[in-house]
Amino acid sequence: MEHCDIKNVLAGAFTGKAVTVCGWVRTARDSKNMLFIEINDGTSLKHLQLVIDKDGLPDAALCAKLGCSVTARGDAVAARDGQGVELNVRELTLIGDCPPEYPLQKKRHTLEFLRAMPHLRLRSNTFNAVFRLRSALSAAIHGFFQENGFLYVHTPLITGSDCEGAGEMFRVTTHPFSHGFETQAAYDAADFFGQSAGLSVSGQLEGETAAMAFGKIYTFGPSFRAENSNTPRHLAEYWHVEPELAFADLNDVLRLAENMMTAVLKTVIAKCPDELAFFEKHFESGLAQKLERVSGGGFAVLDYTEAVKILTASGRAFRYPAAWGSDLQTEHERYITEEYAKKPVFVINYPKAVKSFYMKQNADGRTVAAGDLLVPGVGEIIGGSEREADYGKLVSALKERGMNESDYAGYLDLRRYGTAPHGGFGLGLERLLMYLSGVANIRDVTLFPRAAGQLI
Ligand code: ATP
Ligand code: MN
Repeated sequence: MEHCDIKNVLAGAFTGKAVTVCGWVRTARDSKNMLFIEINDGTSLKHLQLVIDKDGLPDAALCAKLGCSVTARGDAVAARDGQGVELNVRELTLIGDCPPEYPLQKKRHTLEFLRAMPHLRLRSNTFNAVFRLRSALSAAIHGFFQENGFLYVHTPLITGSDCEGAGEMFRVTTHPFSHGFETQAAYDAADFFGQSAGLSVSGQLEGETAAMAFGKIYTFGPSFRAENSNTPRHLAEYWHVEPELAFADLNDVLRLAENMMTAVLKTVIAKCPDELAFFEKHFESGLAQKLERVSGGGFAVLDYTEAVKILTASGRAFRYPAAWGSDLQTEHERYITEEYAKKPVFVINYPKAVKSFYMKQNADGRTVAAGDLLVPGVGEIIGGSEREADYGKLVSALKERGMNESDYAGYLDLRRYGTAPHGGFGLGLERLLMYLSGVANIRDVTLFPRAAGQLI
C-alpha cells in the first residue's frame, strides 16, 4: 500500500501537500460538524490528528473506533493549535474493523494489566516509547563498538559448558522421556551431541578465544538463565552485550564500560527526545537531568572491602547483613549506589569465593580483579573482570572449585599459546533500558518476557 510514515508527516515533510497515511485509531472525538481521529502507525510516539468534515465524509464514523486500522488521504497542514501538523482528510477508508470489546481502552491501563496481553500492549504509548528506545539503544551500542574498532562476533547459543561453573542452565535435548538408561552419563551419551548440552548463560568463554585473535571483540545476543528468582530484574532470556579486550587490565575494562555508557547515553539523548520526555513525565521525574549528568561520566570506583565497611557502618537493617566474604545483595548494591555514591559506581576486587573461576587473582590471595557497575534504581547492570591469564593459577582455580580441567582444555590453551592480560564485561540490555526509562520491571521492556512459569 503506498503511504507515508506518520513520523515524516509530523516532521513537516509534506506540509502543504496531499499525502496518504495508514495507522490504528488511538482516539476519536466527535463534535457537531467535525470528527477528530488520532492515528498512530508506529513510526513515531506522537499521533497524527485527522480532521474530518462529516458532511463531506458521511461514513467517517465507521473509522472512529479505538483499535481499528484505517487509511486516509488529505492535505497536511499546520495544526490549528499551532503544534505540529494535522491532516485535512478528503478520503478515509476502514481497513480492519475493531469491536468495542478491544481491551485497550482510552484510559491508562496498569502495566500489570497490559502484561497479560503482550500481543496488544505494544499499541499503547508506553510500549511504543519503550521499544523505540530499545531499538535506538541497541543501534547506539553497535555504533559505539563499531566506531572503536571492535569486531562483532556471534558466539554459540548451544553450549556444552556452563560459563560460571555453577550457572543455572537450561538443558537442550532431543531425548524423549525414557526409563531405558541406567545412568545420567549413558543418557547424555545417547543424546544429540553425545554429551549434555545447554543454552549458554554467557558468550564470554568463546568471546575470549576471539579476543585472543582479534584483540577487541563484542557479542550482542541472547543469554539464558534458568534462575527461579522471580524478581523485577531477572528474565530467563535476556540480551547480553559482552565486549572482550586483549592487552588490558581491570582499569582498561572499567574505562571501556564507562566510555560505552556515556557514549550510548549521549546518542540516545540526541535520538530519542520524545521518548525520554514521555518517560520523564510518566515514569521518573528528573530523568532527563539524571541522564545528562551521567552522560558526563565520572563514575565512582569503590573497593568491595570498602563497600562492606560502608554497609556495616550505615546502621541500616538489611534483610541480609553485609559481611566480608559474601556477595553483595541487591539491597546492598542499591544502598551503595543510591544512598552512598548517588551515581553509577564500580565495585571492584571481590572475594574470590563469590566470583567465577576465570577472574584474575589479585596479589592479596583472597580477592579477584572483578568490577561490577551498579546504578541507582536498578542495581547491577554490568558484571566484568580482568581474566586470569596465568595457566597455573587458572588450573588451580578450576581444581579448587572441583571443576573438570579437561572440559576447559581449549580455554586453558589460550594461556599456553601466547597468553596476554585481557578482560571484558557483560551488560544486560534490559537492565540498561530500565535505567534509561525509569520502567521498574524488566518484563515491561521486553517484547515477550520469558521467566519462571511464564511463556506467553
Ligand atoms: P545478578 O546478580 O543481578 O543476578 P549476575 O551477577 O548473575 O546478575 P552476570 O553473570 O554478571 O549477572 O551477567 C552480566 C549482566 O547480565 C548482569 O550485570 C546483568 O545486567 C545481566 N543479567 C544477568 N542475569 C540476568 C537475568 N536473569 N535477566 C536479565 N539480565 C541479567
Ligand atoms: Mn554479576
